[in-house]
Amino acid sequence: MRVPRFFSTTSNDMAIDLGTVNTIVYLRGRGIVLNEPSVVAIELIQGLPRLRAFGMEAKLMIGRTPQGTSTVRPMRDGVIADVDIAEQMIKAFIDKAHGGPSRLPRRPDILVCIPSGATQVERRAIRQAGTNAGARRVRLIEEPMAAAIGAGLSINEPIGTMIVDIGGGTTEVAVLSLGNLVHHASARVGGDKMDDAIASSIRRNHNLVIGETTAERIKLEIGIARMPEDGRGLVMPVRGRDQVNGVPREIDICQADIAAPLSDLVDQVVETVLRTLAATEPELAADIHEHGIVMTGGGSLLAGISDALAEATGVPVIIAEDPLTSVAMGAGMALENEAYAGVMIDS
Ligand code: ADP
Ligand code: MG
Repeated sequence: MRVPRFFSTTSNDMAIDLGTVNTIVYLRGRGIVLNEPSVVAIELIQGLPRLRAFGMEAKLMIGRTPQGTSTVRPMRDGVIADVDIAEQMIKAFIDKAHGGPSRLPRRPDILVCIPSGATQVERRAIRQAGTNAGARRVRLIEEPMAAAIGAGLSINEPIGTMIVDIGGGTTEVAVLSLGNLVHHASARVGGDKMDDAIASSIRRNHNLVIGETTAERIKLEIGIARMPEDGRGLVMPVRGRDQVNGVPREIDICQADIAAPLSDLVDQVVETVLRTLAATEPELAADIHEHGIVMTGGGSLLAGISDALAEATGVPVIIAEDPLTSVAMGAGMALENEAYAGVMIDS
């Protein structure tokens, strides 16, 4: 059926999950159209910074840039760490999500996800960056709310739910009921700290220096929340530079080599959850006990982390279906569905 032109829904409004590690863009009426690392490569030309690459292309350059070029992750702990560069990155992503700057029918309205602990100053910085990047209107949505919607929870009901989102920089714990955030807590522990912990333990115990990309790869392949039960556990070959004589070297790394430092970080997540549960009103706590804790964010995919959390709390733990996209999906659903209008913050 042909849709009359004035009915066509070619909107260019979008929701943006501007994570420390990944940026995901949801285009209204289309769904997720972009999912790339929150990385830019900056080149200095006559002393002025110029965007050389962004997203996946820039991530591939980490640890491999020539002089004069550097890779930057402009988001830290979920908020903007470098305003000018963040703006350039947001603009690049907005343009790419629309298939190039020339395809933008008009300046878009954007809905940006922010950590619930973001201060007023940080919220203003996000709005300003969005406006400078070309948005007409910038609205905000708190990440736990978006994560809950994206994970399929009915946030508007009088039922307590708990979301634990483990991102790159932080872990956000929130209790929601009736479309509101009842409690939230944040800990500066996430995927980045896990990568650092892996790199330092390999340097300490094997005199091998590895880059952050390699450390992340080890985490994705054999990372584990608790000591493996069968001795060494899974093994993988790892290449790096020998700390003593400086030459490239390859060694086998097993799960037991990296489990202890990862387990310490998992304990910090567990403590934050326990603290939040202890502060939660009994009726809401009973709801959480009945329905379980829902985990989102890439860190929830670390092997064994949901079991560790379930064991420590005595509450069932469910990992969202696609934890890396829950926040973006939820923010997108808030754009599409009137029922969620109340969770978007206008100014
Ligand atoms: P952010 O919202 O801060 O951008 P994400 O929710 O996108 O963070 O999660 C990114 C983090 O999740 C990265 O540190 C990444 O290494 C980690 N991650 C992704 N997949 C896995 C996995 N299978 N196991 C452990 N960590 C993972
Ligand atoms: Mg996130």
